Amino acid sequence: MQKSTLIKHFQEKQIIIDQRVLNAFKKVKREDFVLKRYKKQAYEDIPLPIGFGATISQPTTVMIMTQALEINSGNKILEIGTGSGYQAAILSILVGNKGRIITTEFIPELAEFSKQNLKDYKNVNVVLTDGSKGYKEQAPFDKILFTVAVPKIENFILEQLKDPGVYLAPVGDKDSQELIKITKKNLLIKKESLGYFQFVPLKGKYGFR
Ligand code: SAH
Repeated sequence: MQKSTLIKHFQEKQIIIDQRVLNAFKKVKREDFVLKRYKKQAYEDIPLPIGFGATISQPTTVMIMTQALEINSGNKILEIGTGSGYQAAILSILVGNKGRIITTEFIPELAEFSKQNLKDYKNVNVVLTDGSKGYKEQAPFDKILFTVAVPKIENFILEQLKDPGVYLAPVGDKDSQELIKITKKNLLIKKESLGYFQFVPLKGKYGFR
């Protein structure tokens, strides 16, 4: 499949209606974030293995999450689960050079892999750490997203979010999760479901046992 075919798919199915999100998708080469042997499949709408039990997420999933974040240029965003770095690259385009992406990864080899893939994305910092705790060192954030399944929504993570701010995480068990969006605005918290997804499970202190 071609990149243009996927873009058509997003538009025809009305999955992605935000033109800025579509433009970011056009700019980032997914083939630069997959393992060599999967390059030909880079624009299939499927997750692909990147080693260590992790995957680069399905393009549709990345786009749905990106659109849901309602990103403005200049935003400071925390991602938990860098993996290949592909989601971080898309976010990087949307926040622009006045914005910043802090993305945390638990597995040293994947942190290294993503750093290589992201070397041209100057507003992205990959941090090797247990992201299940969030990242207090750089808090608060305009947006926080988990690109890894979490067992529950932790209050101490919501405390690392600005007001206004958006939090996004797939919440559930190891096999299936509901993508939850939490919007903080004027001290009020709004919670909504964006449907069911399958992510790899969160490790670390507040991850799955
Ligand atoms: N966003 C990624 C997909 C990541 S898959 C991409 O665009 O490619 C989920 C990732 O979360 C894996 O790389 C896994 O190692 C990582 N992960 C699991 N537990 C974590 C934790 N506690 N802190 C940080 N990263 C974690």
